[in-house]
Amino acid sequence: LRDSGQATSLSKNVSQLDVEDDSDSDLLPALTAAIENDEIKVYFQPRFDLNSKRLLGVEALARWILDDGQFIPPSIFIPLAEENDLIEALTKSVVEQVLPQMAEWNRKGIRIQASFNFSAKSLHELDFPDYLSTLAEQYGLLPQQIVVELTESALVDDIASSMEILTRIRMKGFGLSIDDFGTGYSSVQQLQNIPFNELKIDRSFVSNFETKLQARTIIESTIEMAHKLGILVIAEGIENQAAIDYLKSVGCDQGQGFYYAKPMSAEEFAKWIKVNPSYFGEEQVLDNEFV
Ligand code: C2E
Ligand code: MG
Ligand code: MG
Ligand code: MG
Repeated sequence: LRDSGQATSLSKNVSQLDVEDDSDSDLLPALTAAIENDEIKVYFQPRFDLNSKRLLGVEALARWILDDGQFIPPSIFIPLAEENDLIEALTKSVVEQVLPQMAEWNRKGIRIQASFNFSAKSLHELDFPDYLSTLAEQYGLLPQQIVVELTESALVDDIASSMEILTRIRMKGFGLSIDDFGTGYSSVQQLQNIPFNELKIDRSFVSNFETKLQARTIIESTIEMAHKLGILVIAEGIENQAAIDYLKSVGCDQGQGFYYAKPMSAEEFAKWIKVNPSYFGEEQVLDNEFV
C-alpha cells in the first residue's frame, strides 16, 4: 500500500505483469472480477481553499491493489475498463462506495464535497443524473456536495448527448468541473457550451510555473478568463510552498497536491483529519469519536 498515491514510483511493479504488451488478455479477467466484487477501492485526496487553508473536499481516486500488494495504476486500468464496457460498472462501484462514506462523514460533522472522475462513456447514460440524485437523496447528501469531473477528451466524442447530460447534472445542483484544463484540444470551446462551475488547471502547468514564463502566462490568463465566466479555479499537482504562494498571488481559488496531502484510504483519511484539525472551519466541528 505504500506510495499508492504515486503512480510513477509503482510503474516498475506493473511491468511484472507485462502490461506493456498483450496486457488486455492478462488483466481483463482480473479487472472484470475486481469491479464485480468491489475490489477497486477508493482513495481520497483533500482539496483546500488556498487562502483560508480550509479543507473543502476530496477527490475520489480509484485504486486497484492486487492480493499480493501489487498496485495497478488508473492510467492502465481506466482505459482498459473503457475499452471493454466495464467503465459504467466501475463508476457505479466508486460512487456507491463514496456516497455512504460521505454520509458517515456528514454524521461526524465533516461536511465536505467529493469529486468524481467521469469517463466519456458515462455521458451516454441518459439516466445518470437521476441515478446520482436518487442516491444523493438516499444518503442525505446535498447536491452541492457532489462534483462531477470531466477531462476534455471525454467531451469531443458526442457533444450533443454530452451537453444534454451535463446540463441535467448541473441543473440538479451537482458541481461540474473541467479536469486537466489546457491539455485537450478544445478547452475554451467547452467553456462556452457546457455549464461548468469549476476548472482544474492541469499539473503540467503548475509544475512548470517557476521555470517557464509560458506556464505562468497560461495559468494567469486561465484564472482571469475563468473568473470572468464565474468559474472557480483549482490548481492540481501542488508540490511545494512556492507553488501555493505563487497561485495565491495570482488569484487561484483552491489547490490540491502532494504538498498538502496524498490520496489516502478512508482509514488513513480519518487519521489525517485527527492530526490536522486546523484544516477545519467552525462549521465542521471535529467529533472526538471520529476515528
Ligand atoms: P486526475 O483526475 O487528474 O487526478 C489527479 C491525479 O494526480 C491522481 O493520479 C493523483 O494521485 C495525482 N496527483 C495529485 N496530486 C499530485 C501531485 O502533487 N503531484 C503528482 N505528481 N501527482 C499528483 P491517479 O490517482 O493516478 O489518477 C490518474 C487519473 O486517472 C486521474 O487524473 C483520473 O483522470 C483517472 N481516474 C482516477 N480514478 C478514476 C475513476 O474512478 N474513474 C475514472 N473515469 N477515472 C479515474
Ligand atoms: Mg480528476
Ligand atoms: Mg486532474
Ligand atoms: Mg490530471
